[in-house]
Order: sequence, then structure tokens, then C-alpha cells
Amino acid sequence: MNPIALIGAGPSGLAGARALSRAGIPFHGFEAGPDVGGLWNIDNPRSTMYESAHLISSRTTTEFAEYPMRSTADYPGHRELLAYFRGFADEFGLREHFSFDTRVTSVEPVDGDATGASGWLVTSVGPDGETTGAYSGVVLANGTLAEPNVPSFRGEFAGEIMHTSAYKSAKVFDGRRVLIIGAGNSGCDIAVDAVHHAASVDMSVRRGYYFVPRYLFGKPADTLNQGRPLPAPIKQFVDRRVLQAFTGDPVRFGFPKPDYKIYESHPIVNTLILNHLGQGDLRIVPDIDRFDGHTVHFVDGTSGEYDLVMLATGYHLDYPFIDRAHLNWTAASPKLYLNIFPPAFNGVFVLGMIEASGIGWQGRAEQAELIAAYLAAVARDPQAAAAFRSRADAAWPDLSGGYKYLGLERMSYYVNKDAYRGAVKKLLGTLGRGDAGLETLRSSTGGLPDSEIRATRRVEAPPERRVGQKSETGNPTSADGKRA
Ligand SMILES: Cc1cc2nc3c(=O)[nH]c(=O)nc-3n(C[C@H](O)[C@H](O)[C@H](O)COP(=O)(O)OP(=O)(O)OC[C@H]3O[C@@H](n4cnc5c(N)ncnc54)[C@H](O)[C@@H]3O)c2cc1C
Repeated sequence: MNPIALIGAGPSGLAGARALSRAGIPFHGFEAGPDVGGLWNIDNPRSTMYESAHLISSRTTTEFAEYPMRSTADYPGHRELLAYFRGFADEFGLREHFSFDTRVTSVEPVDGDATGASGWLVTSVGPDGETTGAYSGVVLANGTLAEPNVPSFRGEFAGEIMHTSAYKSAKVFDGRRVLIIGAGNSGCDIAVDAVHHAASVDMSVRRGYYFVPRYLFGKPADTLNQGRPLPAPIKQFVDRRVLQAFTGDPVRFGFPKPDYKIYESHPIVNTLILNHLGQGDLRIVPDIDRFDGHTVHFVDGTSGEYDLVMLATGYHLDYPFIDRAHLNWTAASPKLYLNIFPPAFNGVFVLGMIEASGIGWQGRAEQAELIAAYLAAVARDPQAAAAFRSRADAAWPDLSGGYKYLGLERMSYYVNKDAYRGAVKKLLGTLGRGDAGLETLRSSTGGLPDSEIRATRRVEAPPERRVGQKSETGNPTSADGKRA
């Protein structure tokens, strides 16, 4: 069996590296940036981080369970988070598995065999030029927030248009008339930055939002009621009233009334924006109709003059190095069992393609454990692996938690954290990696029994070949003679 390729050393990629190494599964990681940390490394050319960014979910609901953050902050800033990921990588010896400054440019099935039974060729470009290696499977952990969604507008704007992905520092707002389009978490963070620098700030929105304070009853809001999920209608009823009591009605500040219930879209964890609206530091304006020079016309017939338009319009999922067909891509996103496994079980796995309120990096770590457990089963318990695959032929678990999510592109891979983590835990149990199994893994040397450690360690560094040379892959078919 050839090693597994792992793309990305952000939080998800690190979780993947940790789970694979703990399970004794040989793998090699590729990271386009110079270090671990993903988008939390503001110096990573692909990072969409900005100077003022802090965690939006709170520390204890976000951190890896096995590696608590040594921080007193409830919502640490991005520099502290980068230090945390560096510490995590060092603690578990993960860096040595990665080639840094190395971007994967193509992932293709060996001999064009889309079942993946013959393995995958991964081509990357790094300090030594272009290299292609053969792998028995590929874990994609290249992030979901890197490819900006840039809408088109009628007319021409004479000022500067910038997407939040390019935003780093509030200096860009100095003395300018700013229009922010979109009120997601980044849009609201950036609007709060802008009010201290800009000549004026307007925010254009199409729909209403629910604003959750960072603290409720003196505690980080997302730490309340942890582990005891209420049925969706009850939680919506209770939290709606709690928000009304704490933050009032955002319609007062000019936001439209939401035409959906709380938690049917991602909530905005920011009430500073409401404070600034209350202070008159910014204004809410309607959706854009068209641009005309420095004038922006809104759909209600009003207009404003601006120097800078900041698009807080989110991101598209993007796996540019692999044919969409291998990911069962349907409409806005890949349709994957548990948001991880293509239903063809072709040896490609997606890690980190989950959006959810409060799922944190631990949720991504559990995804990684499931991938590692499945790969371990392929190697040592083919029947369990086959039974796992057959589950995906039946109805897929409902991951919505009973919430009716808005039919938006960014919600197409949204899950409810409790439903999702419950489903992953249940499936881990079927692979002998439930809570008890994981504990055994944690306490054992390499994660697998000695015989398997010996078997897997026989596989050395990834066999690599220059493009155009003959493959040295041999037969990468997995131990059960089927697809990995
Ligand atoms: C401002 C901001 C605040 C956020 N706050 C929170 C929060 O409070 N809680 C939370 O849970 N999440 C938050 N997030 C979401 C964030 O996406 C996750 O925390 C986390 O970074 C996702 O990790 P990831 O590893 O999946 O992706 P990323 O962090 O994006 O890492 C992906 C890595 O893959 C590498 N890569 C990409 N393409 C290639 C390639 N072709 N070859 C090799 N390497 C490649 C990239 O260089 C990068 O290092 C926030 C995001 C932003 C922007």
C-alpha cells in the first residue's frame, strides 16, 4: 500500500496528520505555505486573515480536545492561534510529515481509473520543481475560505473594489468613504475596524441577521448548554427570546427583519456592530442596484458616494487540482457521505468541508479520526470497511439537527454540530474506534497493534517520480483488494 497524500497543514490538515500518524497510517503532507496554521498564519500567501481577527467561536468550544490552549483569553487573536497550531504540530511531531512551500497542482487517478483502485498521482510544485508521486489515497484539507465569491454588479465603479480575502489592516480605510457589502462575521468585524478610520461607513445588506453577543450571563455564549442540545424548535424559541433581551431588535438599527428563523443561517457573533450603529458611526443601506462612477445606486432608489467598496460576500468551495467528478460535485458543493467520503469510495477524502455553528477544530479532528479509522479498517478489517461503505448506500444521516437551512451556496455544506458529531461518533464505533477504541489508540505506540505497525512501517517515504517517467507505484490496491 502506498502512503496517503494529505493536502494542507491548516487546522484540518494538522488534525488529519495527527489522526493518520496516531493510527500508524503512512502519509505525506503538502502545504503551499511556509508553515503550519492555514489561514490563521497571516503570512501564508493564501491566508484570508486580517490584523484585528480573533476567534469567533470561543476557545474551549474550538480547541482540539487533546491539546487545550494555554490562554486566558476566551476569544484569542490570530497570532495566539498560530502559536497554538505551531505548538500542536511540534507536540505531535507533525511537521516532519509535510513538504512546505509545496503546492499541489493536480490529483489524478492512476491510469485514469476513476474507481481509485489503482491509486492516485499527486503532482506538486515546490522548491525542487515539479514532482509527481503515487499514493493509495488523498485527503483534501485545503480549506474552504480561500476562493473569494466576487459577485458582478451593473455599471462601473470608479473607486477601489476589494474582497475581504485581501483585507489585512484598517489603514486601507483611512479617510475614505467606505461601502461594505454583506454582513457576515468578517463583514461585521471589518465594519467595526472601518468606523475608526474611514470618513464614512455604510453597510449594504439583502437580508436580516441574528446577532449573538460574545458573552451571555457572563460566559462565552457558545459555552452555555453544551452537550445538552435542545430540540431545534425549543432552542429557536428560547434563544430568540434571549437575544431579544440582550441585543434587542436589529431592525431598530436599520437591518431588515430576518425572513428565516434563528440558526437557519450562520449567526453573527458580534454586537459591537450594533453599538456602532447606535452611535451613528455607520449606516445600513439596501442591496445594490448599480454602480456609476463613485455613485452606488441602491434598489430602493437612494444612492451614496464611495471611494472603497469592500465585498464581504464570502467564498466558493474550491478544489482546483482535482476533477469535480471525483468529488461527486453537485450544484454548489461536493455531495459527500458525512461531508467526507465520495459515495464511490474512490480513495479521496475531504477534511474540513463543514460549516457549522460551534463545531470548532475538534469537529474537524473527529472527521480526521473517522478517515484514519476507515483507512485502518481497509488495511486490517476489510469486512468492517465494506460494511462502512455499504452504509453510504442507504439513506444518509440527517445532519441538519432539525433546522431548515437557507438554500444558499454557503449553506450547502452546513451541518448542525451536535447532529454531525453524533453521526461521526456512531460511525467511529462501527469501525472499532468509538470512545473506547480511540482511548486504546491514544495509549498505544503507533495507534495499531504491533503487527500492523510493522506492516505499515514497511512503507517508506512516498515514491516520487518526475513527470513523464514511468510510475514505480506497483499495485496500490488496498489490502482488501478493493478501493481504499
Ligand atoms: C476571520 C476568520 C475567523 C474565523 N473564526 C473561526 C472561529 O472562531 N472558529 C472556527 O471554528 N472557525 C473559524 N474560522 C474558519 C476557519 O476556516 C477554520 O478555523 C480553519 O482555519 C479551517 O481550517 P482548514 O485547515 O480547513 O483550512 P485553512 O485554515 O484554510 O488551511 C488550508 C491550508 O491548505 C493549504 N493549501 C491550499 N491549497 C493547497 C494546495 N493546492 N497545495 C498545498 N496546500 C494547499 C493552505 O495554504 C492552507 O495552509 C474563521 C475564519 C476566518 C477567515
